[in-house]
Amino acid sequence: MNILTEKSSTTLKSTVWRKTCFLSEFSEKAASAACLMGWLHDRALVPDPTFGGIVLRITLRDCSGLRDFVVTTKPFIDLLSTLEYESVIAIKVLGKEILDVKILARAKPAIFSPKVITDFSTIDLVVHRPLAIRTERMKAVLRVQDQIFTSARQFFHKEGFCELRPPILSPATDPGIRGAIGADVNFYGKKYKITTSMILYKQMAICSLEKVYAFSPNVRLEPVKTRQTGRHLAEFCQIDVEQAFINYHDAMALAERLLVAILSDVKSNCQKELKLLERSLTIPTRPFKKLTFQEALNILSKAGFKQLQQRKELPWEAEKMLSNTFDEPFWVTEFPYGSRGFYDRQDPNRPAVLRDFDLLYPAGFGEAISGSEREYLYPRVKKRMLEQGLPLDEYSWYLDMLQHGVPPSAGFGLGLERLTRYICGLENIWEATAFPKVPGVHSP
Ligand code: AMP
Ligand code: MG
Repeated sequence: MNILTEKSSTTLKSTVWRKTCFLSEFSEKAASAACLMGWLHDRALVPDPTFGGIVLRITLRDCSGLRDFVVTTKPFIDLLSTLEYESVIAIKVLGKEILDVKILARAKPAIFSPKVITDFSTIDLVVHRPLAIRTERMKAVLRVQDQIFTSARQFFHKEGFCELRPPILSPATDPGIRGAIGADVNFYGKKYKITTSMILYKQMAICSLEKVYAFSPNVRLEPVKTRQTGRHLAEFCQIDVEQAFINYHDAMALAERLLVAILSDVKSNCQKELKLLERSLTIPTRPFKKLTFQEALNILSKAGFKQLQQRKELPWEAEKMLSNTFDEPFWVTEFPYGSRGFYDRQDPNRPAVLRDFDLLYPAGFGEAISGSEREYLYPRVKKRMLEQGLPLDEYSWYLDMLQHGVPPSAGFGLGLERLTRYICGLENIWEATAFPKVPGVHSP
């Protein structure tokens, strides 16, 4: 974890201020002085008879955690005891002795400091992000998310997938975003969309690489009321996957392998973070349980959900209830024709159902993944688009592409923040990302 290749010399010159190690690496037994840099997390003046008076205990924080020091020299006590929390400081330390102190950035008084935050689900922490992101808990969540990125990349690399840089601007994007509004930008005089999902581009990419994935940012201006679900953001990321020449069962098996690989890596490599989050992870057994949409409806109507509509996806309350009845991730498959985007393939032998699926997390966490086999033949796609009242001219490049040989394929999108939320056991999805954009909330 060394941050500098050039280590401090045995006699640290007082004019040199360069961070020599992280707080977690600092040893009082080291023969040479260390230069540490971080944030003033806490401090307290305490009586100390050994030094014949008052000393200042300070807690420093850096990315590696917290560390306490005792300041016994009067000028340093005076300097630090009036400094606001979150000021950035550097100290030179040898053994227990603080040799020098430098203030790198003075903070102004804050409405709260990371040390006093106890309610991590409050929306205040979204608004006051510059302070909230500094908490030990947030760091643990972001390190877990970093492991998710790493594991996913390793998994796809092993499975022979190629990572793509996803599109952010699209002349046409996924219209199947149920109640959310897309965001437009003026692209040199034409209205372009900020991508809501890269489904159309995945079908373009498999014509070249066959097995593709991306960490794809999506913007969907979800209704403000979705804030209550704890799993809707207005900007989120999908681990977006597509493979040519496979069916939806293959895609589900791929998703199971991916999820198990990620969960196993987090469980073994993020023990410290999981402990801090008080989360114990179980690795689900493959294959996961499968319910058809119809079976899910039956369970729900027995549980008292009477108003469920045949040609709609499950409302989130119903989905949450269903998710609460399981203790491992499970599939809901074969949604009814008419309930999803035009690209979910209609089963040629059973026209009332789609060859598609959702994965749901257990314990009320709800939807994790949506995916399907795709419609890939031009006349079929055109028919489906017309049925959904979509303006064909907006999709002209896509419809044109379909006439240049697009293969059958299947794929899915796994919501990154929802996965992070589930793994970390967080109440709200806005706790599961560094820079949350919550529907209706103006925040950094
Ligand atoms: P969809 O195609 O709408 O099912 O989206 C694919 C996946 O992206 C979902 O299964 C979720 O994991 C995730 N997702 C969709 N909408 C949101 C949202 N508003 N906030 C966070 N994650 C989302
Ligand atoms: Mg979905």
